Amino acid sequence: MSRSGPPHVPMRPLWRCRRCGAEWPCQPARLALLVEYRHDRTALLVYLSTLMAEAGAQLAQLNGSAAAADLTERFLSWARAR
Ligand SMILES: [Zn+2]
Repeated sequence: MSRSGPPHVPMRPLWRCRRCGAEWPCQPARLALLVEYRHDRTALLVYLSTLMAEAGAQLAQLNGSAAAADLTERFLSWARAR
């Protein structure tokens, strides 16, 4: 394992980055996903939609509410083709 630490992956059920502690997907995670799915943006959006649903359910249990609009911004808006 490298000295650079864990990858930028989400810690459930908090949905914070295991590496940098930011709300996931953090900026490095977004960049990595865009690279990984650079030939298939649709698959990326499907994947993110699945994670957003999971995060929404888990965060709702933690907080008592999940702001759907915020989650859409956080999980999907940045990944849409422009
Ligand atoms: Zn991170």
